[in-house]
Amino acid sequence: MKKIAFIGAGNMNGAIISGLINGGFNPEHIIVSNPSAEKRLALQAAHGIKQTQCNIEATTFADVIVLGVKPYLIEEVCQHLGKNIDITDKCFISVAAGCTIKQIELALVKPCTVIRTMPNTPAQLGCGVSGIYANAHTTEEEKAFTTTLMESVGIVKWLTSEEQIDHIIAVSGSAPAYFFLFMEAMQKQAIAYGFSEQDSRELVQQTALGAAKMVIENKLPIGKLRENVTSKGGTTQAALTSFIDGGLEKLVSNAMNCAVDRAKEMA
Ligand code: NAP
Repeated sequence: MKKIAFIGAGNMNGAIISGLINGGFNPEHIIVSNPSAEKRLALQAAHGIKQTQCNIEATTFADVIVLGVKPYLIEEVCQHLGKNIDITDKCFISVAAGCTIKQIELALVKPCTVIRTMPNTPAQLGCGVSGIYANAHTTEEEKAFTTTLMESVGIVKWLTSEEQIDHIIAVSGSAPAYFFLFMEAMQKQAIAYGFSEQDSRELVQQTALGAAKMVIENKLPIGKLRENVTSKGGTTQAALTSFIDGGLEKLVSNAMNCAVDRAKEMA
């Protein structure tokens, strides 16, 4: 069984560690490193994993290194590792948005496996989506291991080019917030109708959950599901016509393109 070092004891690495342990991964094969003690000690207490303050100690222990620090720290962390230890046989998996494989390769100095994943926030509940792209050094075994790692927090889609990471950011990475915005707008209108804050929240969240479950379980095209619940001349059609006349489709595609453009600027 491979040994894994998690660099950073934050939300995303914490979610993956939790997913792996719940899936039966041996905690003795996991180490987490983090500068401040509180979060790494909490992960050790919760899961029985090893912990350290030192990224070099964690990386030396492991075969696979999950880089879970903020994007602006990735290069600094990698340079420190590349300059101080032999990392040529290690597999680096970055979960950082906006940091390219080339940037990580250059920072690590020596050639080694670098894999980029783009998970989204629901990974923290085990129902995330991760897009993954690997550099040319990556073996099939390392790809399979990365699939297992990221499936511990949701579903996985392998990408055919690194550019698709920018697209996955628009489709799933940033997208939970699109749904939050829509739900927020619905909740505001429900409150305007006189529902309490709590009731309006429950009405909106349960409707979103029910709609998502119908999409998952029915297997019908999403457009067909919409048609099935839209009676001619009825209330749903009246609402949908208002969305369509207001240019919803164009608005959504423009918004997603803005996310892609911003991802390109940040890389
Ligand atoms: P976070 O909760 O802030 O975690 C980052 C952790 O890195 C903190 O615990 C921080 O420790 C630690 N850290 C700082 N400097 C370090 C160093 N030199 N060596 C080791 N650890 C260090 O952030 P996050 O939300 O988990 O995000 C982590 C990465 O995941 C980011 O690159 C982000 O783009 C990516 N990501 C996150 C999500 C998400 O839903 N959260 C989704 C997609 C991608 P201190 O607090 O002690 O400074």
